[in-house]
Amino acid sequence: MQVASQVLSALNCCIDMDLYSFYNNGMNEVDEILKFITDAQYLTVFTGAGVSTLSGLRDFRGKDGLYREVDANKIFDLPYFLEDPGFYYSHTLDLIYDTQQIRPSLVHTVLARLQRRGYVKRVITQNIDLLHQKGGSTDVLEIHGSPRTHHCLSCGRVYLYDEIVPIVRFGQVPFCEVCDGLIKPDITFFGESLPQKALQEAYAESSKSDCMLILGSTLLVSPASSLPLRTLQNGGKIIIANRGETPLDSYASLRYDDLFELFSYLEEALDSDLL
Ligand SMILES: [Zn+2]
Repeated sequence: MQVASQVLSALNCCIDMDLYSFYNNGMNEVDEILKFITDAQYLTVFTGAGVSTLSGLRDFRGKDGLYREVDANKIFDLPYFLEDPGFYYSHTLDLIYDTQQIRPSLVHTVLARLQRRGYVKRVITQNIDLLHQKGGSTDVLEIHGSPRTHHCLSCGRVYLYDEIVPIVRFGQVPFCEVCDGLIKPDITFFGESLPQKALQEAYAESSKSDCMLILGSTLLVSPASSLPLRTLQNGGKIIIANRGETPLDSYASLRYDDLFELFSYLEEALDSDLL
């Protein structure tokens, strides 16, 4: 408590004017999040697509989502991929394979700093865009799989992301150099089960969390919804920052709508060594 009040009084001195109105309007809640972060023994973070849209990536199902433009259910559909793999590789070029222009957002970089300072123990994500890793987070748990690895559907040979990128950027579908089989990313497609090892680990992390920060997820699909429930069942607290309601809002100890504002505030606290 004493630490928190020192943090708060120091903040009063150094918070900048841009953040002042936010700080003033939501005073209790923004003050409290610092206390939750500093008090937590095991803080985990769970992120969804809302975190990536801050980097300019389109949400799949949002207002300007990818799913509005093409028959995007097909992109990650396993039977369709087997029939026409070029559809997946061409439509995910900007999202996954040709992403030099896409920078990690403020949320990604602040989370990485919080991890380096020991506050965040683990980042669990539904996202497949590798932006947490680009932002500096380590040991990210990717529960919907990841394009970090691909594998040959015939012989199982594993290919690293960097081996696949030049082929896809060249407009080609990658095939196995050993057996000529089709190569698929290790992203979970519709029709596939989620990666069990990552999922079990995510449940274990959720169980031991005394605080989980949930960012940019509508919490509408399982396991997104069941991970925070696991934290709650074990006596932990949850904090939700998402534009729009989620089914777990009434269980949240703190609730924010604007991720960018919240993370501007946390960045300020980090810059000022208040965190
Ligand atoms: Zn092969």
